[in-house]
Formats: sequence, structure tokens, C-alpha cells
Amino acid sequence: MGAPFSHITLLTSSDSDTAFETKPESQQTIFASFPKETKNKVNAIMPFGNTHNQLKMNYSAEQEYPDLSQHNNHMAKVLTLEMYEKLRDKQTPSGFTLDDLIQTGVDNPGHPFIMTVGCVAGDEESYDVFKDLLDPIIEDRHGGYKPSDTHKTDLNPDNLQGGDDLDPDYVLSSRVRTGRSIRGFCLPPHCSRGERRGIESLSIESLSALEGDLKGKYYALKDMTEEEQQQLIDDHFLFDKPVSPLLLASGMARDWPDARGIWHNDNKTFLVWVNEEDHLRVISMQKGGNMREVFTRFCNGLTQIESLFKEKGHEFMWNEHLGYVLTCPSNLGTGLRGGVHVKLPNLSKHEKFGEILKRLRLQKRGTGGVDTAAVGGVFDISNADRLGFSEVELVQMVVDGVKLLVEMEKHLEKGECIDDLMPDQK
Ligand code: ADP
Ligand code: MG
Repeated sequence: MGAPFSHITLLTSSDSDTAFETKPESQQTIFASFPKETKNKVNAIMPFGNTHNQLKMNYSAEQEYPDLSQHNNHMAKVLTLEMYEKLRDKQTPSGFTLDDLIQTGVDNPGHPFIMTVGCVAGDEESYDVFKDLLDPIIEDRHGGYKPSDTHKTDLNPDNLQGGDDLDPDYVLSSRVRTGRSIRGFCLPPHCSRGERRGIESLSIESLSALEGDLKGKYYALKDMTEEEQQQLIDDHFLFDKPVSPLLLASGMARDWPDARGIWHNDNKTFLVWVNEEDHLRVISMQKGGNMREVFTRFCNGLTQIESLFKEKGHEFMWNEHLGYVLTCPSNLGTGLRGGVHVKLPNLSKHEKFGEILKRLRLQKRGTGGVDTAAVGGVFDISNADRLGFSEVELVQMVVDGVKLLVEMEKHLEKGECIDDLMPDQK
């Protein structure tokens, strides 16, 4: 294990697993609250990739079945010995097996605050070959979304109502992100170095055609100094270093930092992460509360990127049932997380805060991203759902919900009661 990873002490979540409520505890508190056996397990082995081989078939399903007795994730709830036996000798055309798929959930038994998914896809076909396991997980994770349900996409920003007037005294910044996978390449848990580098060059080529406000440049992680990288992370522009055991155990951090990087326009309002948890993560963000402008740039940029890849003969992975196909089953559908950094020092202390967010179908995160603490009463408030709602519907929930949260905060500031403002369950 290389020096950059030696400080790993924390079982964090990959961002994709956090549509459930997280508490704004410090990272130390999160780790300290793990059962002892979980801590030991995390400290003892830190897996960096999958090493499954065919000789396992010399052993029975019982002999190979993982010990899931300490586990609390969606995969562990669904994967019985019978299902394991039925699926264990299957593989996708690129060679992704059941054991590759579940490794992250085997090595990460649980999380004190969120229900993680416990598995990742290695390629587009994973969702089909292993659907006996993945369909119930998707149904569980996405509020009863059935194998026969179809997903809707709406990337027309004109369909959003309002959203340009979130109070900037409270809303410090607004952001919308999604992921996209390029058809024909394996996903990050399973791709080879060559494929990963292929995705990087394809991205650089395609993105270089963006013009006007979106015109930008690619910055490879390999070419950055440690300070430059840290500055981008601290400024909320760049993905974190590969410190999350969920990411590590799924094999997504192999060969780090090879072929990883960030592309952004000059004023850093439109950004694309290359080869982190998904092939592409597309982000639009800016200071203040104009979510409408952020979402408009997001839709325009994303639509242009899709055509640029198509012009080069590359489609994004998509189907009617799952919407956009991404690495983590929790991100299927829109892959969209629209959110604001908003000051809620009073409301966040209110006993009903969690209930209010739940009713508005929103989630909270700390200011530094998933599993970090909220600093100075500033929270990252975003949509909790990804699948079953269109992009416009999800951003609308954020806009309407955040307006209400700010109104409640103003009431509490003046010492007024907020009972009359309690929303119904959306
Ligand atoms: P995701 O993976 O969904 O993009 P994370 O929770 O992993 O989100 O956070 C990634 C980075 O984006 C973090 O640095 C976080 O502070 C930043 N970020 C998220 N939402 C906002 C926002 N509304 N304004 C500014 N920065 C944000
Ligand atoms: Mg993240």
C-alpha cells in the first residue's frame, strides 16, 4: 500500500450511498461508533481490487459464500446462499462475476447512519446478468421501483418553475451534478488501464469542442502538485482522494491517479470529473442562490457533451428501465444530485429537522461533502431520490424545499413557531 493511503482510519461512504439520512457528526465520531469487529476488519485489510479466480469453482457454494452475519447493507439483505449458488458461475461478456459485484459490500459490513447498497456494477451488462440480485436491491433502495417501471428523463430547464431567487443571505452556493457512463467500456470497478486511458483521451477530445462560457481545459491528476490538488478539493471543485473503503474495496481506486482528472471552464462553473466513481461526473455550480442558472448550464452542457460523444461514435449507457446506467445502483436513473450550501443554524437544531427533510424528499450532508460535519450551521441540502423522478422534478423539489427551509429559518431567528409551515409528505 502506498503512502497516500496510510492515513485511512475511517469507514466513509461513497457519495452514491447517501440518500439516507446522515448525521452531521465529525468523522472521528462516525468511526468511533462502529462495532469493534467492524473497526478491526477495516484496519486489518484494506482491499484495493478484486482477485477472484476460477479455481473457486472447485469449492462448494457453502464453502465460498461470504460471511454476512455482521452486515447491514442492501446486498447482504438480499443475497441468500441459494441465490449465491445460482449466480456464482455467471459472468458478463467482459468477465465481471458475482464475487466482483459484491466485494465492496462484503468488506464494508455497514455504516452507522446510512444503509449502503453493498455492490457495484462492472459493466452495463451487470444489471442484466445479475438482475436476480440487483432488481430487489434497486426496488429496496429506490422506494419500490419495480423491474417493469420505466424511468423518465427531462433535461429541459424551461420546465423548471422559478429557482432564480433563493435568498443569497442564506444560500451560499448552488450545484447540480450527475454521472454518465460511456457504452462499450467497463465501469471503474472493472476497467483496465487501457480502457481507462481510452476514456480519458476520448473525454479530452470531446470536451475540447465546448465553446463560449463552457470552453475549458483538462487537468490530469498526475500533472498536479499535491498543493494544487488539495486546493481544488478544499474549494469543493474536485473529488476527494481515494480514502473511502467503499471505493477501495470495489476496485475503483486501482492504478490511482492514472487517467484521473478534472476538466473545467475558466471560471470553474462547469466541471467534469474523469474516471472517479463513474466514467464522467458532470457538475454545474456557482456562488449564491440562482439554481435556475446552474440547472440551465447543467442541461445545456450535458446535452452538448452527449452529442460530442455521439459524434465520435460513443453513446452513454441508458435504457428505459434504469435510465442512465452508473457504477453504483443507488445512482441509477437521473444520477442527479442538485443541492445548495445553506445556512440553517436554528432549523438544524430543531427537533423536527429530520422529519421536515424527509417530508420534502431532501437529504443533508456536511459542508465538505458526504460524511463530513456541517460547519457553522451550513448544510449541503439536496434531493434524496435519483430514480423514478425526472431531472426537472428533482431540482424542483430542491428549489421549493430550500425556499421553505429558509422561511422556517427566518421564523426561528425571530423566535417564532414553525408549526404552521410544516410540509406534507411529498
Ligand atoms: P457528490 O459526490 O454528490 O458530487 P460529495 O458529497 O462527494 O458530492 O461532495 C463533493 C464536493 O462537492 C465536496 O467538496 C462538497 O463540499 C462539494 N459540494 C457539494 N454541494 C455543494 C454546493 N451546493 N456548493 C458548493 N460545494 C458543494
Ligand atoms: Mg462524492
